[in-house]
Amino acid sequence: MTDPAPSTVDAVIVGAGFGGMYMVHRLRKLGLTCRVFEAGTGVGGTWYWNRYPGARCDVESMQYSYAFDEHLQQDWSWSELFAGQPEILQYANYVADRLDLRPNIQFETRVTGAEFNAAEHRWTVRTDKGDVVTAQYCIMATGCLSTARKPDFPGMDLFKGQTYHTGHWPHEGVDLSGLRVAVIGTGSSAIQAIPVIAKAAKHLTVFQRTPNFSIPSRNGAMTPDYETHWKSAYPDHREAARMTPSGILRNPNDFSALDVSDNERLAILENRWASGGTSFMAAFNDLATNQTSNDHAAEFVRNKIRSMVNDPATAELLAPKGHPIGTKRICVDTNYFLTYNRDNVTLVDVSKAPIEAMTENGLRQGGNEHAFDAIVFATGFDAMTGTLTRIDIKGRDGETLANKWEAGPRTYLGLMTAGFPNMFLITGPGSPSVLSNMIVSIEQHVDWVAGCIAHMGARQLDCIEADPAAEDNWVLHVNEVAYKTLYPSANSWYMGANIPGKPQVFMPYIGGVGKYRETCDEIAAQGYTGFQLRPPVREAVAAE
Ligand code: NAP
Repeated sequence: MTDPAPSTVDAVIVGAGFGGMYMVHRLRKLGLTCRVFEAGTGVGGTWYWNRYPGARCDVESMQYSYAFDEHLQQDWSWSELFAGQPEILQYANYVADRLDLRPNIQFETRVTGAEFNAAEHRWTVRTDKGDVVTAQYCIMATGCLSTARKPDFPGMDLFKGQTYHTGHWPHEGVDLSGLRVAVIGTGSSAIQAIPVIAKAAKHLTVFQRTPNFSIPSRNGAMTPDYETHWKSAYPDHREAARMTPSGILRNPNDFSALDVSDNERLAILENRWASGGTSFMAAFNDLATNQTSNDHAAEFVRNKIRSMVNDPATAELLAPKGHPIGTKRICVDTNYFLTYNRDNVTLVDVSKAPIEAMTENGLRQGGNEHAFDAIVFATGFDAMTGTLTRIDIKGRDGETLANKWEAGPRTYLGLMTAGFPNMFLITGPGSPSVLSNMIVSIEQHVDWVAGCIAHMGARQLDCIEADPAAEDNWVLHVNEVAYKTLYPSANSWYMGANIPGKPQVFMPYIGGVGKYRETCDEIAAQGYTGFQLRPPVREAVAAE
């Protein structure tokens, strides 16, 4: 019989995605005892859950992978320029095996609550399997897009066919061939799924509320030359990526779209369109801040859509006009717009005539009944805060996190929140997170947290908490930087606008990955300014 898992550890880590996996690796190396709770049956987080057809990363594979271990990055090979979900999940499993992470992970276990005991400086963490574990540190590696959201149309239970959410796709796969399928939503997930579903389905109807800008990925097989280009100087490339605004090397042009002639601007945009991917947004240095510059890029993409879609009325519906390009997450696709030229695909605009209800046979919209065999919800997530506020987290004074964040998330550096000592957030709101290459930002946070825990251990300190004043200043700064850009003008999930009733606050930090890293490093080097560090409770009492 194996020993029961210990009920007291140094650190509980919530989530075994890329954040939780690297965190447990780092803390074990520091000699800490760790227990990871993961709701899924396996590692991989986002890439474990999002198995919808066409799911793929839109950061290049050579850049969307761990950089902390030179052997690991040399040994792994990607088959495509942009890896598909199955390969990324395979990679996550490979890392878990190679680093022998599984003994620390308890799968199929969801953390339901965590309470801080101020007398002991320890967290008590509870799970849906009845575990009660105490730990000095509680580290939330819960992901930014991990709580899927379905709209609550009247009659949700009436539909007799199958329903799916892209973020909870069945692991055994779904055979949609020969079926009448609906996709609700046209965000990144839908834009990837639609071309693949269209090929299988008898008929596909897409319900679009807001059209999105999407750039062709130009995905293809990895070539030996390209792989060698990266691997021959991987540490240098990674270091350079860490200091960029987005955590991605993508050859940004450092001039305004207004500093070049019309012909030059067009040529630059054509060039970016031809090379594909999100680097389109790096064509000029002011697309996120200058409305006129942004208008040029947006109109360029609208014209591309018009040139690809045969039916002019459908093309106009697909051409986004209500928000600046990039202020809703830019999408990357393979044949998305061309898919609307297929005879078996119909686009339904629900911007003025919303979906009214689900019915036995499908759904009702604009007074019309639409019959389907399967309905796919590509309707997104309660992003950045939804997963954390659904856990019953009680801080030092018994206040819940949900209560503290009622008017929007408040953090210091996106790493900690005042009143919740010894609880770290990996890529929390207030950090670059979703505006960046997630793995770069995850590694930066995990390294910072591990460094902080080592610092405390070396000085016999056992409690760290964000200072409320430092937090207030950071929240202000996050806001100020956001409002210097065009981002807040869009009804995006960055703003919480996709969830009815959610406070509209720009949640990620848009100051740039490199600049943010420097700030975090400086704060650590100065002895963790803006944080209160405390000795163990008994020592503190004795000293009084
Ligand atoms: P999303 O971007 O939030 O898109 C949800 C879609 O559902 C939107 O088009 C939304 O319309 C629509 N919708 C929601 N409720 C609706 C309703 N009642 N009626 C009609 N339409 C409705 O979600 P997502 O596509 O899952 O993507 C979320 C994020 O995950 C992305 O932005 C990206 O950061 C990440 N992601 C990345 C990749 C990648 O790396 N390639 C792939 C997938 C996802 P409105 O816009 O009008 O609200």
